[in-house]
Amino acid sequence: MRRISIFGATGSVGSNGVDLIRRAGGPDAYHTVALTGGRNIPRLARMARDLRAEIAVTAHDELLDDLRAALAGSDVRAAAGTQALVEAAGRPVDWVLSAIVGSAGLVPGLTALAQGGVLALANKESLVCAGPLIHAAASRSGARILPVDSEHSAIFQALGSENLDSVQDVTITASGGAFRDWPLERLAAATVAEASTHPNWAMGQRITIDSASMFNKAMEVIEAKEFFGLRPDQIKVLVHPESIIHAMVNHVDGGSIAHLGAPDMRHAIGYALNWPTRAPLPVSPLDLARIGSLSFRAPDEIRWPALRLAREVMAAGGMAGAVFNAAKEQALDDFIAGRIRFTQMSPQVESTLACLAGQSGFAAEPADLETVLHWDRAARQETAAWAN
Ligand code: NDP
Repeated sequence: MRRISIFGATGSVGSNGVDLIRRAGGPDAYHTVALTGGRNIPRLARMARDLRAEIAVTAHDELLDDLRAALAGSDVRAAAGTQALVEAAGRPVDWVLSAIVGSAGLVPGLTALAQGGVLALANKESLVCAGPLIHAAASRSGARILPVDSEHSAIFQALGSENLDSVQDVTITASGGAFRDWPLERLAAATVAEASTHPNWAMGQRITIDSASMFNKAMEVIEAKEFFGLRPDQIKVLVHPESIIHAMVNHVDGGSIAHLGAPDMRHAIGYALNWPTRAPLPVSPLDLARIGSLSFRAPDEIRWPALRLAREVMAAGGMAGAVFNAAKEQALDDFIAGRIRFTQMSPQVESTLACLAGQSGFAAEPADLETVLHWDRAARQETAAWAN
């Protein structure tokens, strides 16, 4: 029986992963080693009981008693705190879903990679912050990394066994998020509630707001570079409001291979779960006759300056990815907390990048985890100071 773990099980991606495991037979089909969550203790305990996990871990020490109480009478062990998360990631499994949100997913992901097996990677922050460390950890242990972000899963599937030499470039699509059609002058007054709705995808709040600002797409562009080893100029973004085409691989001979599907994360998660084979998934088949038409437009970098920042980050290399991600996470915290306006997030991130770019060590590739964490902390401090 395959042994699996899910990090960030209580979130949007994690819950979809648990749903797929349950539908495939739950504990009769998979041996669940670890499920982890944050504050949603009832959901974590329910999932751990259903899948008969060995261990359930909350990231928050102070919630250990609540988790223990919620698991009382079951055989699931309860644990809490960042060290417990790392210990859980160190338990060998065949397949692990990395679906913690933010750079908090980096250390558990690196620890899981050191055990070998398959890492199904939703946590794009890991690759943006520390792509070279992620790849090095995988090559040391022989672990295989599979993409879970729908655009990257789409590229992976469209590429098949093609050689990268035959690829001219790739196109990743973007719905445009909540404010795609808003007049530009309205954006400064956008509220958190307005930014937290997505036209097509049901996702966690943070990535939904990042879709409205296109910081999510900016992260995905950098993720594509790190995941597939593409040059920055080979990654194009296309606004596609219907979210049916997720990505296209454009070949040197003028042909393009696109991946299409309903906007449902269970496809990409299930593809990574069943890889290298395919199995039926609870995803609606495409009905293009009903959809009728698909539309496309070029991205507008005045509306979405994050896309320009992504290109600057890729050109800078070194620690720019880690600084960009941490500054973006802090700017998002500041927007959610009402300290800054929606339109101030990009200038805040840009200012942090400009400020830290002058510091010694910024241009060097990350040598180790401690270096990445150092720049992550520095970027958060600098960004938080901007808002005050
Ligand atoms: P959610 O916010 O829905 O879920 C995040 C998960 O991480 C939850 O289990 C949460 O616990 C847990 N968590 C939050 N903070 C911490 C922390 N500090 N330490 C440990 N665990 C923590 O996020 P999503 O599922 O939307 O996104 C997860 C990842 O997948 C992100 O990297 C995102 O970019 C990526 N992704 C998401 C997609 C989507 O459709 N949602 C699509 C493609 C990629 P709790 O909720 O219990 O507090």
